[in-house]
Amino acid sequence: MKTLVMVAINMLGLARRTQARILQASTSEVYGDPLVHPQTEDYWGHVNPIGIRSCYDEGKRCAETLFVDYHRKNGVYIRIMRIFNTYGPRMNAEDGRVVSNFIVQALKGEPITIYGDGSQTRSFCYCDGNIEGMIRLMNGDRMGPINIGNPNEFTMLELAEAVIDLTNSSSEIVNLELPQDDPKQRQPDISLARRELGWEPVTQLREGLEKTITYFEAELAEG
Ligand code: UDP
Repeated sequence: MKTLVMVAINMLGLARRTQARILQASTSEVYGDPLVHPQTEDYWGHVNPIGIRSCYDEGKRCAETLFVDYHRKNGVYIRIMRIFNTYGPRMNAEDGRVVSNFIVQALKGEPITIYGDGSQTRSFCYCDGNIEGMIRLMNGDRMGPINIGNPNEFTMLELAEAVIDLTNSSSEIVNLELPQDDPKQRQPDISLARRELGWEPVTQLREGLEKTITYFEAELAEG
């Protein structure tokens, strides 16, 4: 939380002094475990303030507040983008995200670790689309917050099955304990991005997974 908040304060001060345009890479986590589905930008979210995810969720929420305050009080030229689960080549295999975990496990023939029963959903956006949305937001007139993500929603079980299929893996699926406050569902409403930025994601899940699998195959072959 200190990182998210203090970095925001420092960078906003720098942007104010230099009159720079500054982007807050915010997150769908500001919606917490959402009760509104799909999530629109005007939804205030459902976040546990003292849970194990709170440092991230509340840190990002506080950073958004700081950005908007610096804009109101000091005219800082801000942009806020709420990023929904992004994936693609050059992900860190070690950081525990679901796409990288499943692909590496499948390629190594290790068990695929689904947390909980796998019925929770996420909507995965291939990185290229995400970057295009970011560029359009920075070059456009809209301050945000604006959702950038792919509205096609999948359960973690569907993701595991797709990865096993695309890698031809013999891995079995195992169910591990679901972490506290893990959001049950997540899907961006991207009407605003479509309207204001003329943006929508192009690459769909299977194609994006294929490219990501190719990347991790090469990584594992290098050792
Ligand atoms: N997850 C899983 N197995 C893993 C890693 C994650 O089932 O090995 C689940 C996790 O519980 C969550 C979803 O996949 O429901 C997405 O997790 P990730 O950390 O990638 O993203 P976030 O939860 O931040 O959206």
